[in-house]
Amino acid sequence: MNGLYPMQSQPMQLQSDSRLQKIPILFDELGLNALPDAQQALISQIDACLPQTQCGLCEHPEGCLPYAHSIVVKGEATNKCVPGGQPVTDKISDLVSQAISQANSQINLYSLQVKQSNKQSNKLSAVASKWDINPTTKRPQEVRAVIREADCIGCTKCIPACPVDAIIGTGKHMHTIITDLCTGCELCLSPCPVDCIDLEPIQRVLSDTERQQEQDHLRKRYYTHLNRVTMQMQDKRNAKPVVSVVQSKLTSTANASLDIDESQAKNAIASAKLRTKIKKLEKQLAVRDNEKKRLELETLKSELQTLA
Ligand code: SF4
Ligand code: SF4
Ligand code: SF4
Repeated sequence: MNGLYPMQSQPMQLQSDSRLQKIPILFDELGLNALPDAQQALISQIDACLPQTQCGLCEHPEGCLPYAHSIVVKGEATNKCVPGGQPVTDKISDLVSQAISQANSQINLYSLQVKQSNKQSNKLSAVASKWDINPTTKRPQEVRAVIREADCIGCTKCIPACPVDAIIGTGKHMHTIITDLCTGCELCLSPCPVDCIDLEPIQRVLSDTERQQEQDHLRKRYYTHLNRVTMQMQDKRNAKPVVSVVQSKLTSTANASLDIDESQAKNAIASAKLRTKIKKLEKQLAVRDNEKKRLELETLKSELQTLA
């Protein structure tokens, strides 16, 4: 069991404790430590049942904890965690109901918004995902990101976008994703200038304990990531480009440039795009010959040679 985040089967603790302390400065603005103990307890219990992919699909780009905070303090709807699906929506509803009934008998701490949210949330359906619902887990299909290494130009833009530091690689060299660490949050896709990151479905069924352990681990990795990024930004000798929403919030200086030559980078991007088109055509031609496509392929290949 994580010291800060009790397992979900445990009863709500309303006394003061140390949870929600020692968290990254990104969350300072939430003012968690100034909240009543019972609200803190509810926030940490809700956060404990969130998937911790930090994907921002709940409209909180800084991740799961701000969403948990907003449910409790602002009465935000309980059904917005897309990867969590219906099981997480139901779990949050239960936690809020339980907290309200305990608060009524113990201490009146909860805002009217929370009560209103609870009334609405009893029958809420989880916000739809673009992925099909897995019939076993009742959650959206899980995916993992995979870099097409031949197309990667080593620009490093995907690295800071990954909230759990699952991508390894150095400037101008091909990068790779540690599949066991990837959560499929998709945050690395949009910074990639050559679209060389694919998503692949995975099949697995976790026990409650395994899921809880995984979420605790992911939270720790995210907080380690945030603390490291904060330290890097404070070290002016080691300035790096700011490419993620989270980083933007961590610093107001978002104007550093990538440490690679501009024309070289343009060349590399153009080559990678050509290679992708060539591969596509080659696959199509392997299935069915087509003279027009063969000519197009030859043209693309000579363009690629010119760039090399
Ligand atoms: S997993 Fe994504 S959608 Fe769910 S609470 Fe965390 S950041 Fe929000
Ligand atoms: S590798 Fe990409 S999809 Fe996987 S966790 Fe990191 S940012 Fe998310
Ligand atoms: S952003 Fe794309 S091209 Fe750049 S290092 Fe990552 S995977 Fe490679």
